[in-house]
Amino acid sequence: MKKETFVTKEQLDEIVKTYPTPFHLYDEKGIRKNMQALKDAFSWNPGFKEYFAVKATPNPFLINILREYGCGCDCSSMTELMLSDAVGARGEDIMFSSNDTPAEEFVYADRLGAIINLDDFTHIEYLEQAIGHIPETISCRYNPGGLFKISNDIMDNPGDAKYGMTTEQLFEAFRVLKSKGAKEFGIHAFLASNTVTNEYYPMLAKILFEVAVKLQKETGVHIKFINLSGGIGIPYTPDQEPNDIRAIGDGVRRVYEEVLVPAGMGDTAIYTELGRFMMGPYGCLVTKAIHQKHTYKEYIGVDACAVNLMRPAMYGAYHHITVAGKEDAVCDHTYDIVGSLCENNDKFAIDRMLPKIETGDLLIIHDTGAHGFSMGYNYNGKLKSAELLLKEDGSVQMIRRAETPADYFATFDCFEIGKKLLKME
Ligand SMILES: *Cc1c(COP(=O)(O)O)cnc(C)c1O
Repeated sequence: MKKETFVTKEQLDEIVKTYPTPFHLYDEKGIRKNMQALKDAFSWNPGFKEYFAVKATPNPFLINILREYGCGCDCSSMTELMLSDAVGARGEDIMFSSNDTPAEEFVYADRLGAIINLDDFTHIEYLEQAIGHIPETISCRYNPGGLFKISNDIMDNPGDAKYGMTTEQLFEAFRVLKSKGAKEFGIHAFLASNTVTNEYYPMLAKILFEVAVKLQKETGVHIKFINLSGGIGIPYTPDQEPNDIRAIGDGVRRVYEEVLVPAGMGDTAIYTELGRFMMGPYGCLVTKAIHQKHTYKEYIGVDACAVNLMRPAMYGAYHHITVAGKEDAVCDHTYDIVGSLCENNDKFAIDRMLPKIETGDLLIIHDTGAHGFSMGYNYNGKLKSAELLLKEDGSVQMIRRAETPADYFATFDCFEIGKKLLKME
């Protein structure tokens, strides 16, 4: 299958007149269409709610688009909570699914009225000490251990993951929380990441629904929601078949009717905390070819680097690349597409078949809308790029400016040397 871009060469040629490369560009139309499709797929469940995983794309302008559809925020740090607060997501519009949580973050989450999702049994006491009470609505993160398989394929290894409580701890946690006054309960689990199969959510739902029925029977608590968390993936490679969100919603509905409804739990709300699925395909990194190097391999040096997109360096992740304006050209050249970091893993693609690239060509690196910009860092003192929104009417809005040296040096501002550095621009 051919991977399409949501922006044309003509549009990019216009955009780069105002905004220098590299930049992340987001597709408002795609974000809206996908959000609506998710809502439709789960419309059978009256309490359904998506809590966008803020860490995937922590940009208030993008989160605000999702907010129009009733989307909440899934947070796991102080600054993510602050962002949510700033866009007006408070109370039950925030799911605080953190782990190894500092006390002050629990305090802030509680002040905002967020739903707190406890990662560990010991956090019950820790939370109680931090905030002075146990909230009426509380959630616990479950880790069933072992391997998570879908028809013999190992999807992931929960037994090796730091997250969540064991089955015994989960039951004990519900008893203890109930005795301390909790009234409404939630269960959460995240067992596999970036799944490109319609079966992940239904299988996860079955595990959680069965545990929920037992929990309700054995502890007598009311289970208000089951949080299927993130993990629905996107097709990064051209050969992958995209997930069908309608089929996924239907699959979860079938398990719901099979397990929860007969147990008298047909009032349970389904929550999700999707990040990658919500934004991944609707962002790209636009970068310019600035060098061609012919040594033992053929290199194209671009003006972006792993600071702008870490996934290839960190996970060896594949990101499709389109040379703008050469969409239909033959891919008869083998290139390594590299950034400028003094770090040999700073490569967006290795041995990639692409059309012949000229210096000055614009390269579109696909699927950077989630866990792209947000994973960025500042190695080599490289600065983070701007983020731009391609609006539905075709206009472009800057939704984050590019970093400047002053941003990079800002944390020296309390020293003499900092005053000098900050004056140097
Ligand atoms: C990262 C994360 C998500 C989002 O995961 P995606 O793979 O982007 O869907 C959701 N919930 C929690 C707790 C997470 O850590």
